[in-house]
Amino acid sequence: MLNFWFNIPLWQRVVGALALGIVTGLLWGPGAENIKWVGDLFIRAIKMLIVPLIFFSLVSGIAALGDLKKFGDVGGKALLLFLATGAISVSLGLTMGTIFQPGVGLDIVMPTGIDIPAPASTSITQMILSLIPENPVMTMAQGQILPLIIFAMLFGVALLMAGEEAAPIVRAADAGALVMQKMTILVMELTPFGVFALMAWVAGSFGFEALVPLAKMVALNYAGCFIIILVVYPIIIKGIAKLSLADFFRGIIDAQAVAFSTASSNAALPVTLRCMQRNLGVSKSVSSFTVALGATINMDGTAMYLGLVALFGAQLYGIELSWMSYVLIALTATLGSVGAAGIPGSGLIMMSLVLSVIGVPLETIAFVAGINHIMDMMRTMTNVTGDATVSVAVARMAGEIDVEEYDSDDDI
Ligand code: ASP
Repeated sequence: MLNFWFNIPLWQRVVGALALGIVTGLLWGPGAENIKWVGDLFIRAIKMLIVPLIFFSLVSGIAALGDLKKFGDVGGKALLLFLATGAISVSLGLTMGTIFQPGVGLDIVMPTGIDIPAPASTSITQMILSLIPENPVMTMAQGQILPLIIFAMLFGVALLMAGEEAAPIVRAADAGALVMQKMTILVMELTPFGVFALMAWVAGSFGFEALVPLAKMVALNYAGCFIIILVVYPIIIKGIAKLSLADFFRGIIDAQAVAFSTASSNAALPVTLRCMQRNLGVSKSVSSFTVALGATINMDGTAMYLGLVALFGAQLYGIELSWMSYVLIALTATLGSVGAAGIPGSGLIMMSLVLSVIGVPLETIAFVAGINHIMDMMRTMTNVTGDATVSVAVARMAGEIDVEEYDSDDDI
């Protein structure tokens, strides 16, 4: 029995659990909430891995690059690709919002009982200051990902500068990264159960009445994400990395399923990292750097959605937008997607930033809040696929990918 279970590749178990979870939820209805705790347990188990995994993987990954020039080269290319895909995604959201006008013709009846999130802190200086951890231990204790990445990166760079004398610490970081990878393997065995419970909960508790008036918005959110995943990323994988698409998608399906069911890029991070290294042959240096950073700052699905929702709000309230407003949306949506944390619902909070800049009432948020989660799931899957795409492309350019491993069918 146990043998039968473990003989099925993990990704097949996960995809099966996802489908079965949806069916169970639809049949069971709101009662499926009773098994949500299994999903929560799974999310807690993954969250447990994040801080030590990021720290050890980044430090050991940067140390393995060998010199600062290579670090700058890989980092520069990754940032450029993050930025380019973000800009393309916002433009896509704006184009779809203009063509399909999701906010036109809706009766404005304010949903009640929904708290409108306070506007996100918009001050650029505050954002920059919050990147630098005052106290790295506190940053780790509070699970603040971006300052942790900055600390781990500086630590890795300092190790490179210290050279031979710091070799014992490099070895310790290598060993730590290896141990965290093994721990990830253990936790990943929970994935089918967690995904099943989360999908049953979403499918069972989701009220279709909330969906109907906003069906166009949901459809556009899904369509935009599919376009990014099936058109934009393949252009990068085929055009820049010159690698097979089928192998790419098969290699990251576990990460996609976790992203979809948890709606959190951070929660998917350990699994994404494992997929990159184990299935797609991306070196630990490039994968740990691009995936950890990408999970926090690269959110193409969110960028597309923020552009779309800004137009939705303007149409809902009959607000004329000038070309300058479009530029402002593009800028703030990109910034908002960078600033959004990789947790469920963070895109919703960033909406206030985009809406307030173009003078659209923040009440818009209340309209989409009820259906945010099912849109968030797809956005998060897109965000994580984007991180994997950039990781593969950068690794290919830097000669840091094992193409044989990438092409092999021997995936987890
Ligand atoms: N939940 C998404 C993520 O973690 C962000 C969003 O809300 O769009 O990637």
